[in-house]
Amino acid sequence: MNLPKPVGPLLAGFLTLALAALIGFVAIAAGTSVPTGALVALGVALVAVALALAAITARTLGRPLPGLARSVDRLARIALPGWRWTHPNDLTGIAGELGAMVPRLRDRLDELTEERDRASQILDALADGVLLLDGAGRLLVANPSARAWFGLPDDLRPGLPLRRVLGVAQVADLADEAVARRAPVTGIVTVVLPEHRTLSLRAFPLADRGPTGRIVVTLSDITQRRRLEVLRRDFVANASHELKTPVAALRALAESLESAIGDDPPAARRFAARVGREAERLEALVRDLLDLSRVEGRALDVEPLDLVGLVKEVAEPYGERAEERHIRLRTALQAGTTMRGDRAQLGLLLSNLLDNALRHTGSRGMIRVSVEAADGTVVLQVADTGEGIPTVELPRVFERFYRVDKARTRRTGGTGLGLAIVRHVAEAHGGLVTVDSEVGKGSTFTVTLPAAGPPPLPTP
Ligand code: ADP
Repeated sequence: MNLPKPVGPLLAGFLTLALAALIGFVAIAAGTSVPTGALVALGVALVAVALALAAITARTLGRPLPGLARSVDRLARIALPGWRWTHPNDLTGIAGELGAMVPRLRDRLDELTEERDRASQILDALADGVLLLDGAGRLLVANPSARAWFGLPDDLRPGLPLRRVLGVAQVADLADEAVARRAPVTGIVTVVLPEHRTLSLRAFPLADRGPTGRIVVTLSDITQRRRLEVLRRDFVANASHELKTPVAALRALAESLESAIGDDPPAARRFAARVGREAERLEALVRDLLDLSRVEGRALDVEPLDLVGLVKEVAEPYGERAEERHIRLRTALQAGTTMRGDRAQLGLLLSNLLDNALRHTGSRGMIRVSVEAADGTVVLQVADTGEGIPTVELPRVFERFYRVDKARTRRTGGTGLGLAIVRHVAEAHGGLVTVDSEVGKGSTFTVTLPAAGPPPLPTP
């Protein structure tokens, strides 16, 4: 009999059992009154039963099992695409096939796990937000960016309705619209909590893939871009306004000059002098606008700088102006103070501070420029004994076109851009500028800069 492999051991088992029983009976019989012949007959009968059982088992195991074979075939097709099924249909063959499938199934499982991990690693690392919704508008996945922007907990249970979870109805509205239109829908939403953010959003229906009705919503944080757009718009409006004023004055003066030139020469001379002053104002404004756009638009040209030498060089031309107005210009420069920075830009920073100090300090006042190094930073200070700045105005003086007293600064030739330039240069170097001031006593501007130079630019 050609029995399948597992049948041999099974048969041996039955035989051993029967023989054991036979030997047992013989042994017992030796000490009992039961006739040995009867016991031997019982043992032989047991062997016969064992043989019969083994034969039945062998037949069952070797019989074709088409239902089981079909199930295993189906399993192989689903779990292991490309698996070469050899179509055995008895238990041994199927067991062999399943045994061969095990390592392949393990590999496939590893592959799927790796794929899933890779996808979630990408989602975790994305700066953009991603939401996955099911057909009923329930939130299945929210990556860390999306969770942070909407203030969702890290352990958020998947499957909750998006409308309930987010508290920003527009996102769910846009997702619904994408489902209804069966096409991507874009929009912009504003989130107030946990932080004020403007998000641009795209809801994309996954109609043809996976379970129906699923939607992927991608989100980008455009808060900064929006802020810059507003700043730029305001800047253009302010700059145009600032330019319009002297240009209108020049036009009016030119007309007055023209009519006065024949009949009233002294008036014509006055008009001509005012034309000159307006032209200077215009020149200063254009110069400051160009300076600002230059410092904002150009990368820093960083080099090792002898700060003491730089301050002396920049302050020197102001000495004469100070003397004319009987203002003492003093310096206190710690020898050997060096740093890494952009020479031209730091020169511009200092000249703006000196120019302000001179314009806002009355005659017989004093201006003191100091430089010192401490704990990896350099501190540059310009202090004056001038008119000072009211405390309420202090937070705004670094804004572009902000003037404390419009009439006064116009008189002194201010453009409202000097301190905006100072702040930009300080911050571009990784530093900051602060001001202390008291009306009638004077002002002190302090610029603190890292001696090692500006930090590396953040990668976008
Ligand atoms: P401006 O060119 O008009 O001086 P800034 O941006 O340099 O513009 O300064 C903004 C405002 O801060 C000025 O209008 C002026 O009133 C005030 N300010 C700046 N520096 C001083 C200073 N040293 N003393 C008093 N006020 C000052």
